Amino acid sequence: MYLCYIDESGTSAIPGNTSHFVLAGIAIPIWKWKQCDIDISTIKVRYGIEFEEIHTAWILRPYIEQQNIPNFDSMSYQQRRSEVEKQRKIEIFRLQKANKQAQLKQTKKNYKCTSAYIHLSMAERRLLIEDLLQMVSNWRFARLFAECIDKIHFNPILAGKSVDEQSFEQIISRFETFLSIKSKTADAPDKRYYGILIHDNNQTVARKHTNLMKSFHRQGTLWTKINHIIETPLFVDSDLTSLVQIADLCSYTLRRYFENNEVTPFHKILPRADRKDNKIVGIRHFSSASCKCLICSPIAQNTP
Ligand SMILES: [Zn+2]
Repeated sequence: MYLCYIDESGTSAIPGNTSHFVLAGIAIPIWKWKQCDIDISTIKVRYGIEFEEIHTAWILRPYIEQQNIPNFDSMSYQQRRSEVEKQRKIEIFRLQKANKQAQLKQTKKNYKCTSAYIHLSMAERRLLIEDLLQMVSNWRFARLFAECIDKIHFNPILAGKSVDEQSFEQIISRFETFLSIKSKTADAPDKRYYGILIHDNNQTVARKHTNLMKSFHRQGTLWTKINHIIETPLFVDSDLTSLVQIADLCSYTLRRYFENNEVTPFHKILPRADRKDNKIVGIRHFSSASCKCLICSPIAQNTP
């Protein structure tokens, strides 16, 4: 039995404010779940965020207040936290006084989403993400599936489906194919490999993916019948479920590779991409025919 944790990065709206939309799923066998959970907790404890969610995009943002605090790096976690909070209060009061409502709203949101990490310097936050990527790299039992859509080359009318629908259908098809290949040697149904999808709870996506999954169960996807994925996706709170946060890390890493050519983090997770006969089949880049990225070009196929 495999659990496939799914999360997305970028906006699926066209054009939206990102060029790419990535939906990624990381599948782990259930007998490795405990080890994964312990691995993630160990890293969280190391960085003083044991009760916090790992949200990669927020972790890697520059926190301007930190740069304005003298000797920030030599302070204790507690001192750093208190200094940043002080700076943030000053900024909130300043914006309130100036009556800059839109900026105030955005600033409050930024502060809320980053408050768990303000005791870590930029260098430490980068190390935290590197440690997590190395952990995923070491999980040889895990399989990564992803649909990465360059929205410039995607036409929903020609495709006959939305960015969301296409990416979900691709993940399902790839995960199903993986499970069916693994099940080939099984001589009885109870020896087959089955999978279940676990998704971050988001009302709009929940309804859409549940309905799509029901139709895939009835008719299959464009690519395959569904015999090994059971149920509709289970929706969980990502702040409580660490492995959904790892799916977020993977989708973010993929998007940053395609949009900004950030190669080093991408190379950490690439070995986990599902392969068949040494060819990457788990990740697809929907782009132009001339794309030379490591997924579209055959050179990547030999990466160990
Ligand atoms: Zn490509």
